[in-house]
Amino acid sequence: MVEGLEIPTPFVRRALIIGAGIAGMQAALDIANSGYQVVLVDKLPSIGGRMAQLSETFPTLDCAQCILTPRTVEVGHHENITLLTYSEVETIEGDIGDFRVRIKRKPAYVNWDLCTGCGVCAEKCPQRVVSEFERGMGQRKAIYTLSPQAVPNKPVIDRENCIYFVRGRCRACEKFCPVEAIDFEQQEHVVEERVGAIIVATGYDLYPTDGPSLHSGQALGHYGYGRIPDVIDGLAFERLLSASGPTAGQVKRPSDGKVPKEVVFVQCAGSRDPALGMPYCSKVCCMYTAKHAMLYKHRVHDGQAYVFYIDIRAAGKGYEEFVRRAMEEDRVLYLRGKVSRIFQEDGRVIVWGTDTLSGKPLEVAADLVVLATATVPKDGARELGQMLGIEADECGFYAEADGNMHPLETVRPGVFLAGADSGPRDIPETVAQGSGAAAKVLSLFARW
Ligand SMILES: Cc1cc2nc3c(=O)[nH]c(=O)nc-3n(C[C@H](O)[C@H](O)[C@H](O)COP(=O)(O)OP(=O)(O)OC[C@H]3O[C@@H](n4cnc5c(N)ncnc54)[C@H](O)[C@@H]3O)c2cc1C
Ligand code: SF4
Ligand code: SF4
Repeated sequence: MVEGLEIPTPFVRRALIIGAGIAGMQAALDIANSGYQVVLVDKLPSIGGRMAQLSETFPTLDCAQCILTPRTVEVGHHENITLLTYSEVETIEGDIGDFRVRIKRKPAYVNWDLCTGCGVCAEKCPQRVVSEFERGMGQRKAIYTLSPQAVPNKPVIDRENCIYFVRGRCRACEKFCPVEAIDFEQQEHVVEERVGAIIVATGYDLYPTDGPSLHSGQALGHYGYGRIPDVIDGLAFERLLSASGPTAGQVKRPSDGKVPKEVVFVQCAGSRDPALGMPYCSKVCCMYTAKHAMLYKHRVHDGQAYVFYIDIRAAGKGYEEFVRRAMEEDRVLYLRGKVSRIFQEDGRVIVWGTDTLSGKPLEVAADLVVLATATVPKDGARELGQMLGIEADECGFYAEADGNMHPLETVRPGVFLAGADSGPRDIPETVAQGSGAAAKVLSLFARW
């Protein structure tokens, strides 16, 4: 998409990648391994994106951490990758071949050059806070890393919850840090980078989002989401299944810690609903719901898993067979129907729906309900898109220059897309897009 354009010389053969999930990391490694410099920016303190929150992955049931960690470590140590976490792009000027980018670095209040990642600060910190990474299922300290496998393994202080910043006393982290790395005076600062091409790999959120976006709010109220503690979303269930999660991989319901004996999984919670502004299929939920029901049965042998579905979309290699395995080997009960209401009664969560095959109403009294909520664009995607001069589709995902022949290009020459920021995708497709976007950038570097 650069035909007819005047390309500046010299072309700056460095790339900026925004977002260090699996898409951004794959693109960064492909470019860096070809001998070019990459600046990789993520707004979170550590890299890995959503995949870092997953337990096992469909359709192979690989341990997500085991396949992700070698990548995060390689990215963290690569001599051609400048990793800027806890950072956000503030402004972008210039054009293909010579973009000038200002990147805001948020204060961690920890000098990462001194910090050894020993974790003593978090151990001694008295302030516990609900953990976003654990999707509300667990707690973290006011000084924290996202997970034990975090790359970089350096903590940040959450200023809003730190006793010292709020009440002017404490400083336990400073007292116990053996290398004097705590720095309460640290300030936000800006770094400037020059790059020739940009890959946007900012991923997705789940509906409803917390922040101000097209998809914020509480429109899943009829499912009790946000109101009934034992109605959770898929990422929260991933954390319950994770060995490194808040329950060390045991499935326990949030309200009282009991092992749930009947679990209802609800597919298409928000997806394929034009009234909610999400007419599209979220693509990964049929598969991760089968995975969830299967993994639940592997942990709770005498438990019963029910899946409410509209239809099953398992169009990937080995995917149909995976869903069949859930039904036939793990005896997950699939009920074809839409759930109309979920409410609490006598300590249980009652799910009302209709079996559209028999036409009869259904009621299941469950201990836990897991909603496969819709995949939506990341909070802040619209603003970033405007800054980059790229377009969004009617649902807020970044728009490809041409969905058929240019699925990785945007309307802005030199700016490419990879992963779930242009629409819902699974990990294999995301990785392929990361490599594809990297190849686009490398072909520019080879040409100019
Ligand atoms: C419950 C659940 C289970 C799943 N299970 C599976 C599975 O078993 N197998 C499978 O194949 N797929 C699974 N998926 C899908 C999988 O999560 C995605 O395919 C994958 O995470 C997409 O990667 P990504 O890099 O595009 O986005 P993300 O993982 O969302 O990463 C995006 C990164 O960009 C960063 N970012 C965002 N905005 C900015 C910004 N403005 N500036 C800087 N950084 C920014 C974020 O902090 C994040 O690190 C599952 C999804 C869900 C919801
Ligand atoms: S000063 Fe803040 S971060 Fe440090 S130990 Fe106290 S509460 Fe925790
Ligand atoms: S105690 Fe100091 S060195 Fe250890 S993780 Fe905390 S800040 Fe880093």
